[in-house]
Amino acid sequence: MINNIESEFDLGIDLIKNNKNIGIASHVNPDGDNLGSILALGNALEKINKKVFMFKSDDIPTNFSFLPNIDKIMDYDDTIELDLFIALDVSDENRLGKNKVFLEKIENIINIDHHISNTNFGSINIVDSNAAATGELVYKLISKMGIIIDKDIASCIYTSISSDTGSFMYDNTTSETHEIAAELIKLGIDKSNININLYQNRSIQKTKLFIKVLETLKFYHDNKVGIIQVTQDMLNNSNAKMEDTEGIISFIREIDSVEIAVLLKEIKEEDIKVSMRSKKYVDVAEICANFDGGGHIRAAGCTINQPINMAEKLILEQIKKVF
Ligand code: AMP
Ligand code: MN
Ligand code: MN
Repeated sequence: MINNIESEFDLGIDLIKNNKNIGIASHVNPDGDNLGSILALGNALEKINKKVFMFKSDDIPTNFSFLPNIDKIMDYDDTIELDLFIALDVSDENRLGKNKVFLEKIENIINIDHHISNTNFGSINIVDSNAAATGELVYKLISKMGIIIDKDIASCIYTSISSDTGSFMYDNTTSETHEIAAELIKLGIDKSNININLYQNRSIQKTKLFIKVLETLKFYHDNKVGIIQVTQDMLNNSNAKMEDTEGIISFIREIDSVEIAVLLKEIKEEDIKVSMRSKKYVDVAEICANFDGGGHIRAAGCTINQPINMAEKLILEQIKKVF
């Protein structure tokens, strides 16, 4: 289904205006775009007297505790009666984790997202794969509704956009991305504080985990592919959590010869979460689609239910096809 994005915005705004109790949920493994979008939209809707419930689908990494109003994000509770459910930065139904039940319970669903692999599961789909971050779409929605963007909302949107563009560095960054960021800076956000929290805040434990994980680095295809592994043993030995691997995959992509960086995370013995990044020309969303995953051209993921070395072998078989 191809939607006219402008009319989807209008229909979404009508639905929001006509409903009172609104649920907004995170995706599993929530990231800066996801959390920033939820808090920005949630707080904007409270300003127009909506009763807003922000639900988490997973634990929130502690490095996001600086986000204004982060404590408003609560545990999933399906006893709450909702009139409208909004999914943000959620490419498909399963990414909602336990909050997926709301899709069956509630008729009015607004799906706001920028993943190329989005399945348009909403009754209204504000989906634009040209948006660098879901936060950009939230900015447009709030602006179109005429809600004043205060400093807290602006900080959350800035966090969204900065997170998904690698601080305005990745290919998805457009002139519009910079225009929105400029508007947010004009609103007086503390950009330096956000940047320190996002990019200069790595704990010593996390750094020690990085050292261990980097020791697993292997290269393939003339050093164009770099693969690293994180096992449960490594986490236990460095007293770290899986969320502490955030950012390490960028380090692999930054290697001069590397086009594809792969991170294999051992969640359980036969439950391997794969993250993939590319630099210039490979579509990693397409590679991950072979394993029922997806994402963006330059950043994608999937899960493989095999032991970690077998998962690596399977991924390499698919990567081989692109070279
Ligand atoms: P990650 O490597 O987990 O940071 O994910 C990179 C991108 O791929 C994000 O935009 C995710 O939404 C997407 N992604 C990660 N895992 C999956 C999955 N299992 N299915 C679909 N999309 C995914
Ligand atoms: Mn996300
Ligand atoms: Mn995103």
